[in-house]
Amino acid sequence: MSDRAKILCVDDTPENLLALEAILEPLGQELVRAESGEEALRRLLQDEVALILLDVQMPGLDGFQTAALIKQRERTRHVPIIFLTAISKDAEHVFRGYETGAVDYLLKPLDPDVLRMKVRVFVELWQKTAELRRQAEQLRAQELAALERESTERYRSLADSLPQIVFTATPEARVTYYNQRWYEYTGFAPDDEPDWAVVIHPDDLDGVLARWGESVESGRPWECEYRLRRSSDGAYRWHLGHSLPVRGEDGEIVSWVGTVLDIEDRKRQDDRTKFLAEAGWVLGSSLDYEQTLADVARLAVPRIADWCTVDVFRDGKLERLALEHADPLKVVLARELQETMLRAAGAAGAAAIRTHEPVLVSEVDEPALRSFGFTEGQLEIARDLAPRSYVTVPLSARGEVFGSISLVTAESGRTYDEDDLALAVELARHSAAAIDNAHLFEEAERRGRAARALEAVGDGVFLVDRGGAIRLWNPAAATITGVPEQDVIGRPIEDVVQSWKEISALIPVASKPGELVRAETVPVEFGGRELWLSGSGVGFEEGVVYAFRDLTEERALEELKAEFVATVSHELRTPLAAIYGSAQTVRRTDLDLDDEIRDELLGVIATESDRLAGIVNDLLLASHLDSGRLPVSIERCDALELANSVVDTARTHLPEQIELSLDTPKRAVPVAADRGQLQQVLVNLVDNAIKYSPDGGNVMLKVAKADSRIRFTVSDEGLGIPPSEHRRIFEKFYRLDPDMTRGIGGTGLGLYICRELVRRMDGSLWVESQLGAGSSFMLELPAAEQAKPRRTSARKPAKAR
Ligand code: ADP
Repeated sequence: MSDRAKILCVDDTPENLLALEAILEPLGQELVRAESGEEALRRLLQDEVALILLDVQMPGLDGFQTAALIKQRERTRHVPIIFLTAISKDAEHVFRGYETGAVDYLLKPLDPDVLRMKVRVFVELWQKTAELRRQAEQLRAQELAALERESTERYRSLADSLPQIVFTATPEARVTYYNQRWYEYTGFAPDDEPDWAVVIHPDDLDGVLARWGESVESGRPWECEYRLRRSSDGAYRWHLGHSLPVRGEDGEIVSWVGTVLDIEDRKRQDDRTKFLAEAGWVLGSSLDYEQTLADVARLAVPRIADWCTVDVFRDGKLERLALEHADPLKVVLARELQETMLRAAGAAGAAAIRTHEPVLVSEVDEPALRSFGFTEGQLEIARDLAPRSYVTVPLSARGEVFGSISLVTAESGRTYDEDDLALAVELARHSAAAIDNAHLFEEAERRGRAARALEAVGDGVFLVDRGGAIRLWNPAAATITGVPEQDVIGRPIEDVVQSWKEISALIPVASKPGELVRAETVPVEFGGRELWLSGSGVGFEEGVVYAFRDLTEERALEELKAEFVATVSHELRTPLAAIYGSAQTVRRTDLDLDDEIRDELLGVIATESDRLAGIVNDLLLASHLDSGRLPVSIERCDALELANSVVDTARTHLPEQIELSLDTPKRAVPVAADRGQLQQVLVNLVDNAIKYSPDGGNVMLKVAKADSRIRFTVSDEGLGIPPSEHRRIFEKFYRLDPDMTRGIGGTGLGLYICRELVRRMDGSLWVESQLGAGSSFMLELPAAEQAKPRRTSARKPAKAR
């Protein structure tokens, strides 16, 4: 500020102004002139004046009005005003002048000395005030500087007390300040020029610098995650760097203020969570646990470990399933230690499997290395690999230990703590569950296959538990016995199988699977049906499994064969005996036989030979029918003619007490059949009707037309057949009275042959009868109009009806 005061001289007369200048000039101050009140006000807007000399009489704004306006303005209110007037010095003027803020009142003509003296007083006053103001400003500036120093100090100490690194930097990102934390962490001294390559992880350095470059260029905040080396242990820890530009009043960047936060723990926690999620996903992705565990080991390195091994029991022997490290060369070296490590009972990690408890070795020192029982050569390799810490966690599920997982730190410089142990335990839990699941699935599959085989197998299989209750009853068991599964499961076997006690005593049971026993065939009754079941059992921890097959039919066949042999031998023996006896008699020379007796005996031989031939024919025919070797030749035949011939033949040997009659329509009845075979059937039915009417009675052969079919009915008034046997009499060798209590012989083949022949001619044969009330055998064949002449090949079985 200039020490020269500005004095504003206001007068509408330039001469007066000139005079004023002349008077005041010796004061050496700056004079500012104004020729009207308005101009004076304008001047005051620009200049700061120390004193105003104001003419009272002026056109426009006079001195008083001008003074009043000056006093109204805040900035000019305190500027002293000396009124200059030529008019009067009466009290009113003086009073008005003072009222409007004048400090003095001078009358023209002015006394130069007085004016100069007065002006000087005001100028000095102004100068004093200005000086005072300057001093006050200086003082304020000093105070401010002190305050600023103080606050910077405060900020610094605040920054120093912060747990994170704080820094400031020039607009070009050259660091100007670091807080205490930085020096503690990096180990640098405040005078050191920080070498980034030393503190920032080599893999992250380029990224960090590139980001800074971008931020300096664009002025946008800098943000970057990178690893910083901790001087205390050489470990690289993840940090989050963050910096904002500080801008001056015109918006240009004056500095950067930044923080660097240690996010290692948070990041590790994130990594762990992410790793566990990924491992869980991998483990759940397949049931091939050997593959998934190897994948998990790969996933673990280097994220949570420098080394990862997975060891599992195979056939009771611990084997290494996975060995992972980022450097294949080191893997090769580590393989040299593998066998020894797997068998190292003395190492801390081995206890994990033994005790089912996780083990944390936070510092692998020389004794820890030696505890593996390495040879000197191996020890050297182990030292080279320089493990720092490790955790070994057993892989166990439901009380069973499948192996172990180990995580090892080495070159990363990390050491494991309780948190890492917890992570390893969690990983092992997932992994063991995967192994357990795979085992369970395998077991379930095996059981499923066994169950499916049991479902499909033709033999009946059932399981009786130690308490005697049925626990399994396969479909074949249900089919053979006719008892459905849901009716037997959980029920005592004795309730399901009648006389189980006796039966089970007969069935051999092997004491263990694989032991051979011969199945026994026993009769068992189910639902009133007798079944012949051949079975054996095997005992195991849950009870006994029985397997059986249905031999009822085979048994019946056996019986049938025995019956057949008995019947046929008997049937053959009777005529043979007659033939033999007759022939012997005829041959005797000691007997004198007359011609009549000789003829009679020869007649017996001829008749019985016929009968023998008949039996043998039947047997042959039956066997031909069975093997499908009997040709059928369907033709148009006259049923009336056939019936007549059958009845005529029968009459030749009709017993006395039998009345044989024929009932036919008047007109010819054409039927489609094999003539010879139809005749054979009718002869057989009529013969049977006569044979099984030992007490005599009417036998009738009736022929009738029924729609498109021809029906033959052979009825008698003989022994009759109970309805329960109506089906069975058509079976091969089946006879109602096999012991011939009524003395009626037969092979049991006749009706079987009849049914088979009728079937081949597209006909049907059935019986209606009651025991003791005679029988009616019905035979229906197609009428000839419908039937086209045809010839079947001998081999082709006829369509069953
Ligand atoms: P066979 O007469 O040689 O015994 P079949 O097959 O002709 O053999 O007959 C089977 C069984 O059917 C006979 O043993 C007999 O018991 C019964 N049977 C057949 N025809 C009659 C009938 N007309 N009346 C009563 N029973 C009969």
